[in-house]
Amino acid sequence: MAGILVYALHDDEGDFNKNSLGAISEAARLAGELGSEAAALVVGEVADDAAAALGAYGAKRVFRAKSVPEGLAQPIVDAMAKVIADQGFSYALFGGGLLGFEIGAGLTARMNAGVTMEVTAVKVADGRLVAERPVLQDSAIVDVGYVGEPGIIIGRLNAFDTDEPGAGRAEVVDVEVELSEWSSRARMRTRGEQRGADVNIEDADILVGGGRGLGEKDNFKLAEELAEALGGAVAATRAVVDAGWYPYAAQIGQTGKTVAPKLYLAAGISGAIQHKVGMQSSESILAVNKDPNAPIFEFCDLGVVGDLHKILPKLTEAVKAKKGG
Ligand SMILES: Cc1cc2nc3c(=O)[nH]c(=O)nc-3n(C[C@H](O)[C@H](O)[C@H](O)COP(=O)(O)OP(=O)(O)OC[C@H]3O[C@@H](n4cnc5c(N)ncnc54)[C@H](O)[C@@H]3O)c2cc1C
Repeated sequence: MAGILVYALHDDEGDFNKNSLGAISEAARLAGELGSEAAALVVGEVADDAAAALGAYGAKRVFRAKSVPEGLAQPIVDAMAKVIADQGFSYALFGGGLLGFEIGAGLTARMNAGVTMEVTAVKVADGRLVAERPVLQDSAIVDVGYVGEPGIIIGRLNAFDTDEPGAGRAEVVDVEVELSEWSSRARMRTRGEQRGADVNIEDADILVGGGRGLGEKDNFKLAEELAEALGGAVAATRAVVDAGWYPYAAQIGQTGKTVAPKLYLAAGISGAIQHKVGMQSSESILAVNKDPNAPIFEFCDLGVVGDLHKILPKLTEAVKAKKGG
C-alpha cells in the first residue's frame, strides 16, 4: 500500500516540532499522489486530542507508543521499526534535525533499508517516491530512488513546508513496543532548553546575519538593533558561534540551519560555501563587507562595500525614521 510513516517529535508541553509538521504535510501530499496513507508515530504520554490533531496536517492514523521515551534515538528506532513491519509502511519520512538524523540512520541499519539524507524535495515517479538531494556543495541535485522497502527519507531542516491546518482528525492507535536490550542502556536525565532556543530564525521574514566582521561579541547589538527596527531576527555564522559570540540556535549553514527569508542582510560575513548553503535560497541577499573581494559579493543581490560599524547604525536609524519611530 506504499504508505508513509512520519516520526513526530514533541516537547514537554506536547507541542509538535515545526519540522515534524512539515514532514507530515509532505507525506500527506505524497500519499495523495501515491493513493496511499500518511501516518505519524508519537512516543510518550501524548494526549488523545494532541495526537488526533495531527490529522489536521494530513495524518490518517497516529500510532502512539506511550511506554517509549521521547528524545532518545534507539527506543524510537524500536517503535518505528515495529510499526513499519506490522503495518507494512513502504517509507519513513523525517523532518530535519539531529534527532531525525539519528533515528533515521538507526532505522536504516535496523531494517537493512536504503536511506537518503539532507533531502530537499520528494516526488513521485512510476508509483514510487524519489528523493532529491543536493550534492557537490549544493551545485547539483541527484534523484535517489529506492530498491526494496522501506525507503528512509531524511529531510534537510525546514525542507518541507507545513500546510495550514485543516479540519481533519487522525485515528489514534496505541502500540506496545518491546524495547531492545541496548535501547534502554541510555536514559534521559533532563530535557532542557537548547541554549538560545528563543532565537527563532526559521520563521523570520527578515534576517540580519552577523559574522566575524562585527569584531566582538558586544557588537552583535548592532545586528540586533537593525533586526528589531526591521521586524526581523538575528542569525550568525559558525565562526562567531564557535567564538561564543552568539548561540548555536542562530547558526546558518552546513552545520547549522537552512533558512529562506524574504531578506537576508549579511553583515561582516565573508560568504564561505558552508554558510552560503544555508541562506542562498533567501529571496534577496544584501551584504555589507569592507572587502570588495569577499565571496559574498559573488552571490548577493545588493552589495555595499564599507565598514559595518558605520553603515549598520545609519541603516537602523533610516529604517526607524521611515517607520516613523
Ligand atoms: C565542515 C565545516 C562546516 C562548516 N559549517 C559552517 C556553517 O554551518 N555555517 C557557517 O557560517 N560556517 C561554517 N563553516 C565555517 C566557514 O567555512 C567559515 O569559516 C565561516 O562561515 C566564516 O564566518 P564569517 O564569515 O563570520 O568569518 P570570516 O570568514 O572571517 O569573514 C569575516 C568577514 O567580515 C569582513 N569584515 C571585517 N571587518 C569588517 C567591517 N568592519 N565591516 C564590514 N565587513 C568587515 C571581512 O572582510 C570578512 O569578509 C564550516 C566549515 C567547515 C570546515
